[in-house]
Amino acid sequence: MIRVRAIGVGLAALMVSTLSSSSASAFVRSRTSTGTPVFWASGCVFVTPDSGGTADLPGDMVTATIQKSLANWQTPTASCSYLKLTLETAVALEAHYDGINTVKFRSDRWCHPDDTMSHDQCYSPNAAAITTAYFIDKAGDKNDGELLDADIELNDINFTFEILNPSATAPRAGTSVADLENTLTHELGHLQGLDHTCADAATPANETDDTGNAPPPCDNLDSLSADARMKIETATMYNSAVPGDTSKRSIETDDKNGICAIYPTAKDPKTCAAVNLTTVTKTAGCSFVATDGRAPIGLAIFLSVVGGFLWLTRLRRARA
Ligand SMILES: [Zn+2]
Repeated sequence: MIRVRAIGVGLAALMVSTLSSSSASAFVRSRTSTGTPVFWASGCVFVTPDSGGTADLPGDMVTATIQKSLANWQTPTASCSYLKLTLETAVALEAHYDGINTVKFRSDRWCHPDDTMSHDQCYSPNAAAITTAYFIDKAGDKNDGELLDADIELNDINFTFEILNPSATAPRAGTSVADLENTLTHELGHLQGLDHTCADAATPANETDDTGNAPPPCDNLDSLSADARMKIETATMYNSAVPGDTSKRSIETDDKNGICAIYPTAKDPKTCAAVNLTTVTKTAGCSFVATDGRAPIGLAIFLSVVGGFLWLTRLRRARA
């Protein structure tokens, strides 16, 4: 469902790489089960925060940080991408398949609520945030790969979200500190259709990039050239970071290339409307029939462990 897309091969490699054609490539596009890259059909994507916010930060600061995180993608990609990310006024929302792309802090349970598309599914505590994307997964359909809804949930239980500048105040007991802008900027990459720059536990086994190469495993990047490894690890869409990391606030050239590959200016649909699920359901037919009562077709959950290295290590030891 998720593959690496290779672009931007360097002019010269300073070190010999064991992974040739993919060595200087990084960005990854999320794909349907049959390999179609996912995308928003409209030229605009609307993001509506849940007004519940977090007890750790004032609501206006959260709103400003979401706006800044949207701009972190919009500003660098404006020259080559038509996609517009628009912040809506915060209202009380749940993260459901409802056509509303929300940003929601979870402070009671780190689980998706029980609804028609997910039955009380809980997430890994080492994930600072999770973006759940709903898209049409129907090979051969003209709408195959079309994103319909993407919700960002923030783990306010195992992490304390702060605005680092750059120092951090002490996180709540038993939590790791995570910079909100750093985390949101990464998750917004998922919302737009990008996946991690290397293969991790959530990466499908059949994943390949546009040149047919498998993405390098995140836990074995030593085999890459130094420049290739740096490209993967410094990207905003790299899968993890140390607590307090702020480097993912600013996207890298590779991240920019990913967005501009999905939404090139030359293919601007010149439409700006929110997804109408009623219309989509009619045109897409059976695309959203649940397969087993738990996992609907077309549901992808992108795990993010931004800010989770130390926490992850601790949890693994605890389970061992
Ligand atoms: Zn992620």
